[in-house]
Amino acid sequence: MQNRLTTSVLEAFLQQIKAAPSSVLLLDYDGTLAPFHVDRSRAYPYPGAVSILERIVRSGRTKVIIISGRPILELRTLLAPMNNLEMWGTHGLERQLSDGSYSRGQVSDENATSLAEAEEWITAAGLASRAEIKLGGIAVHWRGLPPAEARSVQVLTRDGWTEFAKRSGLKLLHFEAGLELRVSHPDKGDAVRSILADLEPSVPIAYLGDDLTDEDAFHVLSGHGLTVLVKADYRESIADVRIRPPHELIDLLERWLINISG
Ligand SMILES: [Mg+2]
Repeated sequence: MQNRLTTSVLEAFLQQIKAAPSSVLLLDYDGTLAPFHVDRSRAYPYPGAVSILERIVRSGRTKVIIISGRPILELRTLLAPMNNLEMWGTHGLERQLSDGSYSRGQVSDENATSLAEAEEWITAAGLASRAEIKLGGIAVHWRGLPPAEARSVQVLTRDGWTEFAKRSGLKLLHFEAGLELRVSHPDKGDAVRSILADLEPSVPIAYLGDDLTDEDAFHVLSGHGLTVLVKADYRESIADVRIRPPHELIDLLERWLINISG
């Protein structure tokens, strides 16, 4: 059950989107719109989420934007048939507009060299099968491994990469069941900053996210919009409110839809 403060904060925001001609809904993907899955390629959205989002988009009143650490190609597959969404992928390094146009940022030669070295280290450490090579980063995943093995992959990667991050200027991101070494910018906060720059200050905007990389986005949006931590268990966060997936998430999306309809 939501506590009274959460309920009143959400209700006040929903009244804002009801009164405003347009609004913006920013959503992280993994852990927020979709439950974690051992097979990352099968981490589909919570039942009902896509159909509500489709109706929100179709209303023409709210712009829906996905902001994720995943590459856009994966987001498109997982969010099919929603092919007309604006998406910021790979922590904001890739971007797809709602007209389908695509662009990506550059990785400096220096960072590319550091990432190539980190990839060599991964191979030498015997972790290649756990690695995901991304634009501007490398992730190591341990979801689905037996606990002892997961712990050993975690410790090996953390110890190997902590020094590496310090030397190279790359940053080490801790996410749910994994670590990622990647370029320090853009991050999700930079993505939100770019979105805010193109937005009238009066347009209500909210960001829903679950993990530590979303705190960058919460920080940038703080004072400009509603920030929502989507997480079953408590953790410290600067978000305005916390809701538990999937029921409170679906409930919020439904109420969003109702408030912009009719
Ligand atoms: Mg997430």
